[in-house]
Amino acid sequence: MPTEHPSEIAGLTPITPQPGKALYRQVLPGIMQVPADLLLAASRKSSLWPMTFGLACCAIEMIATYMAHYDLDRFGIVPWPSPRQSDVMIVAGTVTKKMAPAVKLLYEQMPNPKWVISMGACATNGGPYTRYDRVLQGVDKIIPVDVYVPGCPPRPEALIDSFLALQDQIMEDRSFEGRGA
Ligand code: SF4
Repeated sequence: MPTEHPSEIAGLTPITPQPGKALYRQVLPGIMQVPADLLLAASRKSSLWPMTFGLACCAIEMIATYMAHYDLDRFGIVPWPSPRQSDVMIVAGTVTKKMAPAVKLLYEQMPNPKWVISMGACATNGGPYTRYDRVLQGVDKIIPVDVYVPGCPPRPEALIDSFLALQDQIMEDRSFEGRGA
C-alpha cells in the first residue's frame, strides 16, 4: 500500500481560502504575474528570424555575423530562407532602382509584426553610389526602416548592436500590434 511523504500530504491537503488574498496566490505561492503584452514582446524579441538575402558587399559582413565566431543564435536570432516566416529584413547592400520592386515585394510577403534593419551606407542613402541615378537614395524610400547601421561596410559587431537596439525597441513598443497591423 503506497504511503505519501509528509511533504506530499501537505500539498494534497485542501487549503482554506483566506480573505484579502487572491486564491491563485494561495494555491501557487511565488507565482509570477506579468502582462500578456510583455510576455509577447519578450517572446518576439528573443526569436527574431531575419530573412536571408543580400544585395552587395555588406551581405558578406552579414553572413560573417551569422557564423560561429559571432554566433547570433545565442540571441535567438536564426536566419530563415523565406519571407513567409521571417520577421526581420536586413537590407544589406546597394538597392538599385531595378531591384527595389523585388525588395518591396519581399517585405510585403513577410507577416506582421515585422522590422527592417538598413545595413550600411548604401542601404541608408546610396552610400558611395549616391550620385548614380540608377541607385535608390535609401531603402526607406520604399519600405519603413526601424534601425540604421552606419558603415561601409559595418562590422559584425555593429550589426549585432543593431539587433540589440531592435530588441529594446520591441520591448518599448510592446503595446502596439506591430507595423501595418
Ligand atoms: S555600404 Fe559599402 S560595403 Fe556596403 S554595400 Fe555599399 S559599398 Fe558595399
